[in-house]
Amino acid sequence: MKKIYAPWRHEYVTGKEKKKRKEDLVNQCVFCDEFAQGDDEKNLILKRFKHCVVIMNYYPYNAGHVMVIPYEHKGDLRDLTPEVRAEMMEAANVTMQVIEDETKCQGFNVGVNMGVAGGGGIQEHVHIHVLPRWVGDTNFLATLGDTTLICTDFKEVYASFKKRFDDVSV
Ligand SMILES: [Zn+2]
Repeated sequence: MKKIYAPWRHEYVTGKEKKKRKEDLVNQCVFCDEFAQGDDEKNLILKRFKHCVVIMNYYPYNAGHVMVIPYEHKGDLRDLTPEVRAEMMEAANVTMQVIEDETKCQGFNVGVNMGVAGGGGIQEHVHIHVLPRWVGDTNFLATLGDTTLICTDFKEVYASFKKRFDDVSV
């Protein structure tokens, strides 16, 4: 499925203070920059574990689209240590539980897009997508989705997820 969100929605969601232009980045990487800023609410960071971060996707495929990202700026899972990879998997695991509890989803897509042909949006910093799914959601989103489904709920979704993540550990 193609991305449901158009770029202008990003502005709608995050406001003018949040510009993700390359020249504004201190670290030249969107993720590294967000981790360094320390403003987790603005950056929609849900949880910081020892080796990785759980963060809402600014360009979500649907409401509840979350990513698990290592602090280390590596583009390939194979360049991470087993310890980091293991924690990322555990983080994805608890993330699924949070998403399911909050959204009552009926399934997930969990995956990594790596390399040019893999279709990764930010290839230089590897991340695991955790995406809730509902039976028939593709059709529903394609026909009705648009702004109301996600944008009006985006901050609410963050707040509800965040509250649950405050209590989890891996
Ligand atoms: Zn990075």
